[in-house]
Amino acid sequence: MKYAQVLVDINKLGTKTFSYLIPEALKEEIKIGQAVSIPFGNRKQNLKGFIVGFSDYLESGIKAKEIAEILEKDPLFSLSYLNLLEWVASYYFCDIQTVLKTALPQKFFEKNLKKYRKPKIKDKIYEIEQLKTKNQLSTTQEKVYQEIKKINAKTSLLYGITGSGKTEIYFKLIEDTIKQGKNVIFLAPEIALVSQLTMRSIERFGAQSVAIWHSSITESKKYETWVKLKNNEIKILFGARSAIFAPIKDLGLIIIDEEHDSSYKQTMPNPRYNAKDVAKKLCELYNAKLILGSATPSIESYYEAINTNSLFKLKERYNNAQLANAYIIDMRGERAEKNFSMFSRTLIKNTIETVEKGAQAIFLINRRGYSSYTQCLECGEVVHCPKCAIPLIYHIKTNSYKCHYCNYDYNEKNCPKCGSVALEHFGLGSEKVEILAQETFPNYRIARLDSDSMSKKNEHIEILQKFQQGEIDILIGTQMIAKGLDNKNCTLVGVINADLSFNLPDYKSSERGFSILTQVAGRSGRGEKQGKVIFQTYNAENSFLINAKEQDFDTFYESEIELRELLDYPPFSKIIRIVVSAKNEIRAQKSISEIELFLSEFIKKLSLDETIIPLGPSPCVINKIKDEYRFNILIKNKLDLKGHRTILKFIRALKLPSDIKLVVDIDPGDIL
Ligand code: ADP
Ligand code: ZN
Ligand code: ZN
Repeated sequence: MKYAQVLVDINKLGTKTFSYLIPEALKEEIKIGQAVSIPFGNRKQNLKGFIVGFSDYLESGIKAKEIAEILEKDPLFSLSYLNLLEWVASYYFCDIQTVLKTALPQKFFEKNLKKYRKPKIKDKIYEIEQLKTKNQLSTTQEKVYQEIKKINAKTSLLYGITGSGKTEIYFKLIEDTIKQGKNVIFLAPEIALVSQLTMRSIERFGAQSVAIWHSSITESKKYETWVKLKNNEIKILFGARSAIFAPIKDLGLIIIDEEHDSSYKQTMPNPRYNAKDVAKKLCELYNAKLILGSATPSIESYYEAINTNSLFKLKERYNNAQLANAYIIDMRGERAEKNFSMFSRTLIKNTIETVEKGAQAIFLINRRGYSSYTQCLECGEVVHCPKCAIPLIYHIKTNSYKCHYCNYDYNEKNCPKCGSVALEHFGLGSEKVEILAQETFPNYRIARLDSDSMSKKNEHIEILQKFQQGEIDILIGTQMIAKGLDNKNCTLVGVINADLSFNLPDYKSSERGFSILTQVAGRSGRGEKQGKVIFQTYNAENSFLINAKEQDFDTFYESEIELRELLDYPPFSKIIRIVVSAKNEIRAQKSISEIELFLSEFIKKLSLDETIIPLGPSPCVINKIKDEYRFNILIKNKLDLKGHRTILKFIRALKLPSDIKLVVDIDPGDIL
């Protein structure tokens, strides 16, 4: 080969590949993944780049410079690693550079890597006194474990209610994998959960050969871990979404806990990948096994597991601990009886009983900020973000109105339309719940956890720790507190507005709502003491709410799958979403209409109009973000990979004017 493609990170241009001539002297030793030094433009100093490909030809008109030297003989990634990233790029419709930029630590591109080689001071997390003795699996756990071990399917789903002991089964499977000389990736949806799991696993397996990977890990730490992974010194890698790109050797097993969680899908920016699907691909490439686990599996995973005979159930809590009793409180009844507080009398009474007994409570309110919208009582205007088509949310802490999309901050006291000061806040947010809880329960220790209360680094881990140690009586928070918390002294969960999650205009909203409610209910009564759950609602007839109260996933699944089939939504199709946006509304609209027209013709010509079904065009639910008007088409693809390729081929051929932006979202997490 004459030329090499070299990946470089140039400040303003971002990460890009360029072709370079391979000097005769280097031809023998040059390899994919090596760091090289290259001249670039008129720069005095050479840049550092990575070899990502070879070719014999150049596009005409290009004159390639020569690679100056190989900086590191030992490649930082392999060809098979690059193949995985190429699959990601082609499936998620973006270029390989973007995927590489997401996958590789930025430190890689700095001139001198050597200075990061020194071993760092040991993390606190790695210090433990001695290994815990291994737990014996219960008969039910043992049975499920044996079945999972036996099965041939690449992917298995472990559906186990909260507290059923899934983690113990994961640990057994990890142990087996390590015994076979293979390695493990273990993903959890959130950093706090990743730390919790890592700690638990270190107690079991020791600190050696365990590593952590997520967005809050420093770049030099990531680099250090990368080198260890490459040298096969890591047996278990714990991480959040991005850890799926860590270059682990001899992969034998991937575990994705809380597999239903939306954070496994990157919504912004490109690559808009789903770690679950990347994991499936990885397992295929390495002949490894994938275990998905959840107390509220995603409809798609559950459907697939049923149809591939790879569904495993744990329907009882470990040690036959009882699930918390759940109650639905109709807030209309409270109003009728002159209780205008946002807390029902039942919740107040139970909170007092709980705290007086020395136990703890959680209040879930799934919206941050003070209220849900603000309206002018004179002109009727609902205060909106001037750049996005959504209401601004009032925040007490900053005494201003914030856009949760673009961070726009309005700090006037007057109506932006008529200037009146008669602005009134409606609806509930976590700040207001905190303030009212302090008024209602003045003697209790109350804390709030949402993404606004996380201004300091690690603050949220500290709050969680305080809650675990019994230093907080009532923890108030958004869905961040619904997941994974294992505090045996927490015996009461109150959901302040249980309808909130069901009302988004999105085919996944009932799935999400059911899951949040069931998960948060699972935080109550995890120890010896019996727990209670109180769902407050204005819509007590909502069937999903009733399913969640009963913790009845199967009934929820039956009704939901029927609906999905009726409407051709996943798992009965795959969705590709095309979003077009522009500063000029008419031009954006014209552009999406043209795309739709071409698409329909294209599909008809191929006689695929029964299996590739476009919906729209229509304005997006949020029809303006950051001053750009947004329109979308949803394409339901019932033809699997063949359909996928056909649609992407169509999109690739589109030629759009420069003022029109195009986003292609494969298997979108939401359609807002
Ligand atoms: P899940 O992940 O399904 O919510 P966990 O694995 O966290 O459940 O288990 C719930 C609780 O039961 C934990 O406190 C765990 O330590 C305990 N537990 C589960 N299985 C066993 C076992 N075989 N022996 C001892 N304790 C167990
Ligand atoms: Zn905005
Ligand atoms: Zn007004």
